[in-house]
Amino acid sequence: MGDVSIPDGSDQVQCPQGGPVTNGSTHQVVILGAGFGGIAAAKVLANQPVVVTLVDQRNYHTFQPLLYEVATAGLEAGDVAYPVRAIVGRAPNIHFRLGTVTGIQRQERVVCFAERGLGHIANSEPCVNDLPFDSLIVSSGAVANFFGIPGAEEFAHPLYTLDDARNLRNHILLCLEEADGQRAHASDGTLNFVIVGGGPTGVEVAGAITELLDMAIARDGFRFDRSKARVVLIDGQDHLLAPFLRSARNYAMSTLRNRRVEVRLGEMVSSIGPGSIELADGTVIPTRTAIWAGGVTVLGTVASTFGAVSCRNGRLRVDHSLRVPGAEAIFAIGDAAEMRVSPDSDDVCPQLAQVAIQSGRHAGAQVLALVDGIPTAPFFFDDRGIMATIGRRAAVAQLPRGPILKGTLGWLAWFALHLVYLVGFRNRLVVLVNWTWRYLSWTSGPRVIVGLRGSNFDSNGSLPVRK
Ligand SMILES: Cc1cc2nc3c(=O)[nH]c(=O)nc-3n(C[C@H](O)[C@H](O)[C@H](O)COP(=O)(O)OP(=O)(O)OC[C@H]3O[C@@H](n4cnc5c(N)ncnc54)[C@H](O)[C@@H]3O)c2cc1C
Repeated sequence: MGDVSIPDGSDQVQCPQGGPVTNGSTHQVVILGAGFGGIAAAKVLANQPVVVTLVDQRNYHTFQPLLYEVATAGLEAGDVAYPVRAIVGRAPNIHFRLGTVTGIQRQERVVCFAERGLGHIANSEPCVNDLPFDSLIVSSGAVANFFGIPGAEEFAHPLYTLDDARNLRNHILLCLEEADGQRAHASDGTLNFVIVGGGPTGVEVAGAITELLDMAIARDGFRFDRSKARVVLIDGQDHLLAPFLRSARNYAMSTLRNRRVEVRLGEMVSSIGPGSIELADGTVIPTRTAIWAGGVTVLGTVASTFGAVSCRNGRLRVDHSLRVPGAEAIFAIGDAAEMRVSPDSDDVCPQLAQVAIQSGRHAGAQVLALVDGIPTAPFFFDDRGIMATIGRRAAVAQLPRGPILKGTLGWLAWFALHLVYLVGFRNRLVVLVNWTWRYLSWTSGPRVIVGLRGSNFDSNGSLPVRK
């Protein structure tokens, strides 16, 4: 991953005495989404002469790059999440609202907002509540893209939210419990874990699951036959880690194979069912755990409901200063927006945390320019490189103008970067302790099944499917 510095609890937004006056005539800014982009924009606008309403459907910021650690029982959910109010709550000009934005009325300059009730979202009618704005920053991110593959949305596990990660961890641990000591389960797919998508997320998940299986046998007294358990990583392209250079891809491939991950390249998934995945060539892989790391889309999110969107993945088109064309008070940033790396380039920024942070900061600064009545400035993306981990002491770090770090060196760079930029001092400390302990003792993190309602197993004594 790249530079993912974001404001955190230890760097709390503070307002000096005599801070900004916030009354009805002050410029109203709504920020939609408290992800990397939204938080970065809010940080720029803190203690400035604007009133900011930061809206999110969750009351916490998620550090998505470490979701795979939660999903594979390396870290607790709370280690990769941080309450939004603890990040921005002390800035008197920023108000956090928990709820879902259901629509954006660009002419009226109003955001339609559904308050979050106890455990459910009251989104029956749009604009039950509305939030007026003078400037809007859309940073609502993306969602998993299943490309219309039959059964994928229903039966595969996405990994985009903290809930996804927790559900996946429960499911994997339940599979191990069910398979324990029962040889029959080796052939019915209970011990087959199939990851679709060979990008950084897929590679990280595959590497972590294979370590989890080793750990389950070595440390937790599981009796299933490890040699019968399969971790399969599938990608339609002929290489892993598409954004990386060849040597990094080759390193990832050989490391995964050495760690008993079955890498299948150039293969397309044609359908996913409750007990199997079928490939385009007719191969059927029995599995009850299909993990979807096949890409994201903005289509279907609130950002794709107004303005022009990219045909490829629904990202909202923006101009050089990150404004939605024809709506000069609306900016779009991060995963939700299709922005160029610079005004004179046709290259589109990747959907990465560092892009979201830099574009969030830029949009925040442009809002202040509007308030001051000065022209907005174009956005330039500063590429800080990319990283992916493959497991214990194995990672690749590709710097923009430097060498590719691999193996232990790459892993240490990856480890240090994630630690430094993880939100919140407590989270950093917990992750440091957990990772160091795991590294030294070869034990793993919270292999606990929590949050399941009712019975874990259906009437046949089998694991329930995802939906
Ligand atoms: C598993 C995974 C691993 C990743 N690993 C890396 C990595 O290693 N390095 C890297 O650079 N990038 C990584 N990324 C990508 C990176 O996390 C994203 O690019 C980044 O989070 C985008 O930030 P954002 O602010 O645009 O959106 P997000 O961080 O997705 O935030 C969007 C926010 O908007 C809220 N929201 C959405 N819709 C609504 C609505 N209608 N109403 C209210 N709130 C709403 C959401 O709850 C969310 O909090 C990873 C992503 C995933 C999923």
